[in-house]
Amino acid sequence: MSKTLQAIRGMNDILPEQTPAWRYLENTVADLLDSYGYKEIRLPILEFTELFARGIGEGTDVVDKEMYTFLDRNEESLTMRPEGTAGCVRAVLEHGLTGGGQVQKLWYAGPMFRYEKPQKGRYRQFHQMGVEVFNLPGPDIDAELIVLTWRLWKKLGLSDAVTLQLNSLGSSEARARYRDALVAYLQDRYDLLDEDSQRRLTTNPLRILDSKDGGTQALLVDAPTLHDYLDEESLVHFEALKARLDAVGIRYEINQKLVRGLDYYSRTVFEWVTDKLGSQGTVCAGGRYDGLVSQFGGKPTPGVGYAMGVERLVLLLETLGLVPDELNSPADVYICAFGEAAELAALGLSEQLRDAVPGLRLLVNAGAGSFKSQFKKADKSGARYALILGDDELAKRVVGCKPLRDDSEQQSIAWDALAEHLAACLKQA
Ligand code: ATP
Ligand code: MG
Repeated sequence: MSKTLQAIRGMNDILPEQTPAWRYLENTVADLLDSYGYKEIRLPILEFTELFARGIGEGTDVVDKEMYTFLDRNEESLTMRPEGTAGCVRAVLEHGLTGGGQVQKLWYAGPMFRYEKPQKGRYRQFHQMGVEVFNLPGPDIDAELIVLTWRLWKKLGLSDAVTLQLNSLGSSEARARYRDALVAYLQDRYDLLDEDSQRRLTTNPLRILDSKDGGTQALLVDAPTLHDYLDEESLVHFEALKARLDAVGIRYEINQKLVRGLDYYSRTVFEWVTDKLGSQGTVCAGGRYDGLVSQFGGKPTPGVGYAMGVERLVLLLETLGLVPDELNSPADVYICAFGEAAELAALGLSEQLRDAVPGLRLLVNAGAGSFKSQFKKADKSGARYALILGDDELAKRVVGCKPLRDDSEQQSIAWDALAEHLAACLKQA
């Protein structure tokens, strides 16, 4: 016997029972972004490898260890996008969307690919919804991005489940000075560092700050702190951001070790974290990347953005029982028809009903069947009414309307009164 085919590890099917929660989340986010005036952009999944190597940076986990990269038939190195920002910046530059200082407030959604160790909340194909804003350097827009996510948590009922971690990385010069100080400090203690951190000391030293190793963390207690190296302008920026969060009442924790995995951040960085999902607790992460656009050869263009992990948010909604029940709500009406003539009439009638009652969830029996079997299917569909159409009804131009969820009597309703009758019945409950 041939082996059954299986999906690739870490790449999940999202089954029909899960999609209502996904759509609930996706629609809520999309509606919210609409209401703040953000516009959707759709980007390719495949890009030239160089885009990510340049944009995300060598020495990051994503570029060094996690990318799905291959040569296409033309021997060009392509990569399945591991994140959305680099592609978004590429598109914005390619189409001149930020030329002349134009402000862009964009969002995107879709699958991302990283070769990671699959576990709860961490997959090889996962989904992000992200936001990127260009040409606004001030703290006001950083605040707006955070306010927006805070409102999302409120809408979803997650406010008590997530906390905001905030930091400023300063200008790239300040960051470089800090990096030197940190490297000097750690170099003297090289042998005490874990292996990953030893490697990062040359490739990406700031990443050592979020090492999970106990010994390394102990060393870091007395290490130089980033905020002592921040430039004056970044400090002012950071204070103004905090003032805005205070003004709307958003609580945050300053976390000086928050540096984010990707190389391109400057000034503001933040993460929304939950303690309800185990170690994969970051549900939304982002920051300012004023240097990225010029890194791609564009004019210096301020940028700021974040990405949410859709799987982790869906898991969180499910864990906390916050997916609204009515999302799985069954049909309103199920039409049973007996015989060819009745089936034809039922089809015509069902289309008239769809025109007349917007939003009506109407199932038409398919595959014929006895009275008993059609009735069973009607019941199983969860519909509130079964409409019955046989030869008798056809002759009288009526349908039998049988309530399925209570004991009330079946009624005979004329075809031309049916839409109004159903609309009234459905409104009642
Ligand atoms: P982590 O520290 O959890 O690896 P990251 O810093 O690599 O996250 P980002 O690149 O900032 O993550 O991506 C933004 C968000 O996307 C994360 O906060 C998380 O919610 C989600 N995410 C990232 N990688 C994965 C993954 N492999 N599986 C599921 N969700 C992910
Ligand atoms: Mg990661």
